[in-house]
Amino acid sequence: MACNIDNESKKHIKKRYLTFTIITVISLVLPFIKVNGNHIFLLNFGEKQLNLLFTSFDMQELYLMPFILILMFLGIFFMTTLGGRVWCGWSCPQTIFRVIYRDLLQTKLLNLRKSTKNKQAETKKGMYLQKTIAIILWSILAFIAASDFIWYFVPPETYFKFLQDPANHTVFIGFLAGITIFLIYDVIMLKENFCVYICPYARVQSVMFDENTIQPIYSEKRGGKIYDEHGKKLWSKPPGEDDDCTGCEACVRVCPTHIDIRKGMQLECINCLECADACVPVMAKFGKESLIQWTSANAEENNTKTQYIRFRTVAYGVALTLAFIGLMYMGSTKEHMLLNINRTSELYKIKDEGKTVQNVYTFLFQNTDSKDHEYYFEVDNKDIKIAKPKKPFKLRARKKEKKVVILKTTKMLIDTDRKDTPIPITIKAYATDAKDKIVVFRHTVFFYPSKKVLEKYRK
Ligand code: SF4
Ligand code: SF4
Repeated sequence: MACNIDNESKKHIKKRYLTFTIITVISLVLPFIKVNGNHIFLLNFGEKQLNLLFTSFDMQELYLMPFILILMFLGIFFMTTLGGRVWCGWSCPQTIFRVIYRDLLQTKLLNLRKSTKNKQAETKKGMYLQKTIAIILWSILAFIAASDFIWYFVPPETYFKFLQDPANHTVFIGFLAGITIFLIYDVIMLKENFCVYICPYARVQSVMFDENTIQPIYSEKRGGKIYDEHGKKLWSKPPGEDDDCTGCEACVRVCPTHIDIRKGMQLECINCLECADACVPVMAKFGKESLIQWTSANAEENNTKTQYIRFRTVAYGVALTLAFIGLMYMGSTKEHMLLNINRTSELYKIKDEGKTVQNVYTFLFQNTDSKDHEYYFEVDNKDIKIAKPKKPFKLRARKKEKKVVILKTTKMLIDTDRKDTPIPITIKAYATDAKDKIVVFRHTVFFYPSKKVLEKYRK
């Protein structure tokens, strides 16, 4: 029985710690996993490159970014409508960092706090050595956390190179130091005030709630009324005979944001459910379950089950699925090379006494693949030949190169007196070693002069 109560009183906390561990391990390991030289997510501003799901995209291909942002926002709306501030209590780095610093380092390791069950009490007086050790240990962890964040923008291999040569990478060092210092200040000084006063998500999340959103709820029906409708505390222990709340305030002491859940839903609640766990052993003495449950207002009011499938959640779910399909589709249509074609200001050149007409272009080739390739191109008009470049050329992975391209014709393409004529042509550019996979088509024009102009050159 005692063992059961012990397990029940740690029901949510155990699941949260497991979630924290999984998230921490995944976020630390992911930047080091590469497939074909690409990361699962990397927004590399230095190389002007986005890696997504192990595929590399050039900054010119950032048409994927809106899909990623839509997915992110829809994901937040979906999660909040369904599970309230479940992100805050179960996944947010701020909460994970505070649990590491306050509960693990200060309480369990250095004995600076009496118990994790009382988060209202300050640290013990004196004990300066332990306090200094706690700050040093957290500073090391803050540096690792800042590095981990940076690895999603500067790949680890570059990160370690930059770190060995700080004098030549002052901006990078500035960012790394800035984020580390912020994390030290945030976790040691700001604490949960960040969640309550600064975090923008805390401000906006309440509009996404409805009566079926799951959240920690104190059962006033069972426990009794503690606060009046104006939020004024009436008493700690309700006087009614049937009121179960003992007024022990274990749920208040354990709350990291220092609120009393018995007052109802509050902006400061981060959904950690420590209060729900804290009430378990108190109520167990009377053979009853915790007065604080992870449920919805509707379910609590009507003694029913929480309704997860409802119009809003289904609508967000559908929109999320569509955005994900859109992202996958756009990602799969990725071109492994890019080609921009620009014409020079001169329409054409006439050579060989009017027998040859040349057009000059600038082709910007870009190898967006993770391997080196050799490139060349063809023109769809058999009367127009490539005068320059004569041979395929090599382009290293993720590099770009400008090529001056001269197309020429010795045929009479247009026989008109009136004006110069633009002839539409299609350029098929490809990697000679992967002609089926790496190929792009671009449309441009070849200008051909009027007969009058050509005759001037002919003797
Ligand atoms: S822990 Fe339970 S019994 Fe104690 S004050 Fe909170 S709600 Fe009431
Ligand atoms: S009220 Fe409960 S769930 Fe909300 S922050 Fe406090 S302890 Fe966590």
